[in-house]
Amino acid sequence: MHDVLIIGAGPAGVAAALWCDQLGLDVLVIERRSEIGGQLPSIYGPIENYPGLRAKDGQEFLKSFSAGTNEADFDLWTEVEIAKVDLKTKRVFLESGEELQAICIVLATGVRRRRLDIPGELEFIGKGIIESGARDREIFTGKDVCVIGGGDAAVENALLLSQVCATVTVVNRSRKLRARREFTEQLGTNHCITVFNEAVATRILGSADVEAVEIQRKGAIKPFQMAVKGVLVRIGVEPNSDFFSGQLEMDDQNYIVVTNQHETSVANVFAVGDISNPLAPTISSAAGSGATAAKVIASRLNSNRR
Ligand SMILES: Cc1cc2nc3c(=O)[nH]c(=O)nc-3n(C[C@H](O)[C@H](O)[C@H](O)COP(=O)(O)OP(=O)(O)OC[C@H]3O[C@@H](n4cnc5c(N)ncnc54)[C@H](O)[C@@H]3O)c2cc1C
Repeated sequence: MHDVLIIGAGPAGVAAALWCDQLGLDVLVIERRSEIGGQLPSIYGPIENYPGLRAKDGQEFLKSFSAGTNEADFDLWTEVEIAKVDLKTKRVFLESGEELQAICIVLATGVRRRRLDIPGELEFIGKGIIESGARDREIFTGKDVCVIGGGDAAVENALLLSQVCATVTVVNRSRKLRARREFTEQLGTNHCITVFNEAVATRILGSADVEAVEIQRKGAIKPFQMAVKGVLVRIGVEPNSDFFSGQLEMDDQNYIVVTNQHETSVANVFAVGDISNPLAPTISSAAGSGATAAKVIASRLNSNRR
């Protein structure tokens, strides 16, 4: 029986673990991946607006982030696959057959990229599906590519790809782009980028590699095919809350609802970071919520022990 079991070792989970450790609690962190950091390794541009620390990308940020954790004394299990979670009894069953139990559970499983769920999206991973405009630019230099989505991430990636690609077509479902003005203003002078508003991608086509994308424009009778060598999908994120579904209160997008102390609708179960923060998902808010939950847990457990 641990004092605290933290699921997820992104900024929120690690901040919660550091604070719990410092406040004298026995903590176990379980993480699905082989390394800590959550979304950080997938940030290929500079880290913005984290007070006091500048980094050219997520990997560089992760170095400072990991340095602090090496000095702490909490247990971390990586490459752990959860089979089932029972939040009421605070038990977590692992695929390995092990069963974990704690007095308090902290859910810090973050978010994942939303998928389009169209034919070709999974089949062409590594064969023309672009993971990141910043990282994969070299591979698509001189080629025609398509970016699906209309938010910050889609337009930022389109701008990055336009520096090296022959053409970039942005396929945006809404009437106009939702990206911040700083990005959309740059589109006006960028002759390499074409935006199709009120259009959806319906299929990604090809034999061995991506060769085309099928697009349905609003009002058009039939979809049309556009030849491209690469497709990048950025249509937002969704919370990694599937394991907890039906056990606690969630909003209509499956984000976990919490109090201002980051406690969920189940007593002694807390949710921190992006999984409970659809409005302002940032590294600093994730770390801040982890710290808040840890302090609330410590004061609760320590007052029970007095
Ligand atoms: C491209 C990009 C750029 C960004 N740029 C910035 C920026 O400049 N500044 C900024 O402040 N923020 C930025 N962010 C946002 C920031 O990275 C997130 O807000 C932050 O990582 C959220 O931390 P988290 O711990 O809540 O979740 P995550 O970072 O998502 O971590 C969740 C962790 O939980 C693990 N997990 C999930 N499911 C399970 C499971 N079932 N079992 C065990 N472990 C599990 C995951 O593997 C992951 O390690 C950016 C994000 C992206 C994608």
